[in-house]
Amino acid sequence: MPETEIVIVGAGFSGAVTARVLADAGHRVRVIEKRGHPGGNAFDEPDAHGILVHRYGPHLFHTNSARVFDYLGRFTVWRPYEHRVLSEVGGRLLPVPINLDTINGFFGLNLCEEGAAAHLAGLREPRDPVRTSEDVVLNSVGRALYEAMFRNYTRKQWGLDPSDLDASVTARVPVRISRDDRYFTDRFQAMPADGYTALFRRMLDHELIAVDYAVDFLAERDRFKPLHTVYTGPIDAWFGHALGRLPYRSLRFEHEHIAGTDSFQPAATVNYPGEQAFTRITEFRKITGQQVTGTSIVREYPEADGEPYYPVPNQASRALYRRYRALAKAERDVTFVGRLAEYRYYNMDQAVASALKAAGRLMKALA
Ligand code: FAD
Ligand code: UDP
Repeated sequence: MPETEIVIVGAGFSGAVTARVLADAGHRVRVIEKRGHPGGNAFDEPDAHGILVHRYGPHLFHTNSARVFDYLGRFTVWRPYEHRVLSEVGGRLLPVPINLDTINGFFGLNLCEEGAAAHLAGLREPRDPVRTSEDVVLNSVGRALYEAMFRNYTRKQWGLDPSDLDASVTARVPVRISRDDRYFTDRFQAMPADGYTALFRRMLDHELIAVDYAVDFLAERDRFKPLHTVYTGPIDAWFGHALGRLPYRSLRFEHEHIAGTDSFQPAATVNYPGEQAFTRITEFRKITGQQVTGTSIVREYPEADGEPYYPVPNQASRALYRRYRALAKAERDVTFVGRLAEYRYYNMDQAVASALKAAGRLMKALA
């Protein structure tokens, strides 16, 4: 390959956005992706029944950033979509995030907003400082709702008690006194009209972008002599785990098709904080709006080993990550960007924002 190429490792949001920004600025880039497809964990595809499913779990796009939304809008038409989630608690389905209906349903009450606020004020266990994921929930809704909806779900999802996770994890899910039952309240909430994979194929379709699929860069790194490398894989893998392994949480996805019905469950996602081994079930046609016969769902089973899907936000992992970041800073010809390379629990829009920033910095440096 020509020495002037920039190599980008990974064709997920971080890699694809960086590739496109650099290519639009006239740089020749080569994307190396170890999987056989683009999109990273946002990859979607029609299943055997023609239903568009997300192979690596449900991906709902939401952002407050007009910049990110408009940037991706160059490569897709958006279909407005607001996600809603129910949680199976004691045999009933209650809204998550906790809202007025959750409070009334859970406690068998019929409170108005003021009444519910007063009720929660009596239940909450104030924490100062709010340090852990347990603190966040106890501090806002008290022990009964914490134990019914958060403690076990979190233990399943992370293999850790909420008291061993940063506050930021359960703080992703707010508490509301209103009847708003949307999972997100961002300004922009939408799905790519013909899927994420189509978005990625358009983004990577540029005369200055080449993509090699099914190549593990780290296994073949000697083959490449790039001018600069943008790496979006796990940061500890780049350094051969020299300082020890960073923890990542994995999942197993169990996809299933149910024929003869156009609805499996009453919401796009149902969470299971109980004793089931899975955490949630998502029904895709409710998200994509696809008009089909039959329906396809996915169950998510958390696992310790496997593909690194989630960085684990807590003190110990942060301390280890900082040591890897110090090594990364010393690699002058490599940019580390993305959920795995920055070891940050990024949503898609945050990965895009980070990639836009990194690409901007890199262009200045290369100018
Ligand atoms: P990734 O998507 O992980 O892409 C990294 C790519 O690098 C992968 O394709 C990988 O194969 C490749 N790679 C790694 N190492 C190598 C190597 N050595 N050689 C070649 N290629 C390599 N975000 C939302 O905003 N909304 C959601 O609803 C949402 N739901 C999610 C549900 C699940 C189950 C998961 C796991 C994540 C979810 N996310 C969601 C987060 C979203 O997936 C990430 O923010 C986004 O995918 C990050 O993009 P990325 O490019 O940084 O990483
Ligand atoms: N969570 C929970 N119960 C729920 C929903 C979320 O305990 O019904 C906790 C759990 O720890 C989860 C975190 O809140 O990992 C963040 O939830 P989110 O839905 O944002 O997780 P993601 O979609 O990223 O898997």
